[in-house]
Amino acid sequence: MKYNIVDRGDEHSRGLTERFHNMAAQHGMQREEAAPEIVLSIGGDGTLLQAFHKYITQIDRIAFVGIHTGRLGFFTDWKPEEIELLADLMMKVRSPEELHVVKYPLVEIEIKTSAGIETHLALNEFTLKGIETTLVAQLHINDEMFETFRGDGICISSPSGSTGYNKSLGGAMVHPALEAIQIAEIASINNRIYRTLGSSVILPKHHHCDIYPSSQQHMLLSLDHLYIQRNDIISIRCRVAADVKVSFARFRPFPFWNRVRDAFIGIEKH
Ligand code: NAD
Repeated sequence: MKYNIVDRGDEHSRGLTERFHNMAAQHGMQREEAAPEIVLSIGGDGTLLQAFHKYITQIDRIAFVGIHTGRLGFFTDWKPEEIELLADLMMKVRSPEELHVVKYPLVEIEIKTSAGIETHLALNEFTLKGIETTLVAQLHINDEMFETFRGDGICISSPSGSTGYNKSLGGAMVHPALEAIQIAEIASINNRIYRTLGSSVILPKHHHCDIYPSSQQHMLLSLDHLYIQRNDIISIRCRVAADVKVSFARFRPFPFWNRVRDAFIGIEKH
């Protein structure tokens, strides 16, 4: 198996990276930065998001695995002291076909400007916010006008991102076996004049939503941890990515709901 590591860059994470490289070299595992088959992320959830975007053009042929060097993350379920065990398990796998992976849906975002259409993918979520002024945008679902949104912004998350920013917005947690995206409002204005649904909405695969911001609006867009400012957007279409998912290598089971419990509730000790 060809592997690479993306780490957070702090001393602890860099130390673990070196240890893994040494173990891999002893076992003849090939390090391959340009086209790895498995990518180990060492750091936090943000490090895994960085790894995902670093390899965004090869996402259909890479499996990710995460070690956390801070607190337990959502994508990073291996502890630093388990690095030898993880390395042993990884080195037993001889080809990508032997690897046990779970595949999770992604958000596909198509941004239309006068120059054309650009397509992006988000592992957690895409957000759209007004800069300096309230965001004003029409929201259409499946080509039908749904509502005019006024407020701080809109967050569109994948099931695996439903436990991230979406959770802070009061959105539901969605199991990644459900191929869906969730639209959550960020501080919408609701009074006798302006009205939005006020709840988050979950769209299944093959449904889409289009956002039409009022013209030339200055906006801040985010794709996971990446931010861009734009004022040239005509419309944005979001849906479940049809042809690509993210793959996580599973060397031991860690069910989604256990992950939710361990990340947010913790286990009660009697
Ligand atoms: P960061 O370092 O500020 O991370 C924010 C927190 O989000 C961290 O505790 C991280 O562990 C957690 N997180 C990330 N993805 C998660 C997921 N899928 N499920 C549960 N928790 C998750 O920022 P970053 O490292 O640049 O990460 C960007 C992510 O942070 C975004 O994709 C977004 O989900 C999250 N975020 C959350 C809020 C909020 O809750 N108010 C605001 C901005 C960004």
